[in-house]
Order: sequence, then structure tokens, then C-alpha cells
Amino acid sequence: MLVLGGTAEARELAAALDADGVPVVSSLAGRVRRPRLPAGEVRVGGFGGPDGLTAWVCEHEVSAVIDATHPFAERISASAARACPEAGVELLRLERPGWSERPGDRWHWVDGLDAAAALVANLGQRVLLTTGRQGLAAFAEVGSAWFLVRCVDPPDGPLPPHSEVLLDRGPYERSGELELIDRHRIDVVVTKDSGGAHTSAKLDAARERGLPVVVVRRPPRPSVPTVATVSDALAWVARAAQPG
Ligand code: NAP
Repeated sequence: MLVLGGTAEARELAAALDADGVPVVSSLAGRVRRPRLPAGEVRVGGFGGPDGLTAWVCEHEVSAVIDATHPFAERISASAARACPEAGVELLRLERPGWSERPGDRWHWVDGLDAAAALVANLGQRVLLTTGRQGLAAFAEVGSAWFLVRCVDPPDGPLPPHSEVLLDRGPYERSGELELIDRHRIDVVVTKDSGGAHTSAKLDAARERGLPVVVVRRPPRPSVPTVATVSDALAWVARAAQPG
């Protein structure tokens, strides 16, 4: 079983498969300097596009692939959707549901980071930017607001002219997010619709402080069989392992 990873769900899935005695290889892109390693075998680095992934799947006699990558990791998912039919193996997508608005939320949905950058300074002057290290260049021209850029590893591209980087990694809690918002006098939050509980506390904190949140919509995905939970993915693996 090849698990395309980089998410908490992928780690949970690898741990469960490994515990069940299913041979599993987790694949990581190698973006994070000190990744949390899943149980079982791990490989790191790109495959070289869909053809490279097809070749890898065939060479390693993979019986099925589970794409448990992040909802915003578009290219690897597109690669898997092309490579698996080519290699003649089944593909399952494990994707956590997106976040939904609750009473009291002041969310502004946008279609990408450029749209988020165009909107943010109209909503506030002190921004908590949590969209990750990649894609920060979209905000590099926004000079009319101050940014607290929170990411796991140091950004290597251009940053907004008025900004501070905070290196941190979830999971986060509501009390810590409230403290961060208050300490930096944050008046607007920017996030991707990553979903899940690990990073959702900022949304609770923003609601509690009445702050607007710019939410970047998920990109369109290839159409492949999809489940939302690790237990549903395990049930799929069990069915796939049955003879006939
Ligand atoms: P991406 O744009 O879809 O991927 C870019 C390239 O990186 C892919 O074409 C592939 O290279 C390689 N790659 C990506 N994920 C891989 C994996 N799991 N195993 C092997 N190669 C992989 O992805 P991204 O947005 O840069 O994200 C990279 C990784 O970080 C993903 O695995 C994702 O699960 C994780 N992550 C992403 C985000 C996010 O906001 N994008 C957030 C949290 C975690 P080749 O074409 O050479 O195969």
C-alpha cells in the first residue's frame, strides 16, 4: 500500500495499516525540515511527475494507492489520478472535510492566494497569515498592512514589506490563539480551508474576537473515489484485500 502523505490523517492511516500488518510505504514531499514520520516504511521526495509515479508504483509492486495529501496539494493528487490507471492499480482519496461557518463568523471566501492578498488590507491592518510558507509571494506587494506570518519552516521567498515570521506548528488551542491575537493586536486572519481540528482553533478565536477571516477555497480535485475518514480508508483497504 502506498500512502501519499504529509497530513495527520496520512500518519494515522499508516499507523493503523502498520499495526494491522499491512505493508505500507508512506511518501513525503520533503518540504518540511523535520517531518513527523509515520509508522512503517517512509520515502521522501517527488517521483518526477505522473510518469515517474507510474514507474515507481510498478517497480515496487504497489497494490493500491491512497492519496492522503493536503487538500491544497494539487499537483501530487493530479499525478496520482493519472499514474494509477496507467499502472493498473486502484486509487483512493482520503480528504478531510472543509470547515463550515458558524453563527458569529465573519468569513470572506476567495478563490486563491492572489484574491486573498487583494482583499486583506480592506478588512484590517494587522494580519495573522496562516496559509503556509509556499505562496507568500502573493502578499509581497501588500504594503498597507502588517503581517504576522506563521509557518512551520522559515519562508525562502519574498515577504510582505511589514511583517514578522513566527515559526510554529500545530495543533493549536483556542486559548493560545486568543493570546496571540491579543498580543499582536491582530484584526484579520487569513487561512486556507484546510479543514480538520489541528488548526481550527484560530477560527474559534477569530469568532470570539469578532474578527474577519479570509478563507481560501480548496482547488478543484480530480474525480476519484473519496472518503473523509481514516476508518473509511481502512474499510476500503480491507475490501480491496479480499480475493476476487
Ligand atoms: P503539490 O504542489 O501537489 O506537489 C508538488 C510536487 O511535490 C509534486 O508534483 C510531487 O513531485 C511532490 N510531492 C508532493 N507531495 C508529495 C508526496 N506526498 N510524496 C512525494 N512527492 C510529493 O504539493 P505541495 O502543496 O507542495 O505540498 C507538498 C506536501 O506537503 C504534500 O505531500 C502535502 O500533503 C503536504 N502539505 C501541503 C500543504 C499545503 O498547504 N499545500 C499543507 C500541509 C501539508 P513530483 O511531481 O516530482 O512527483
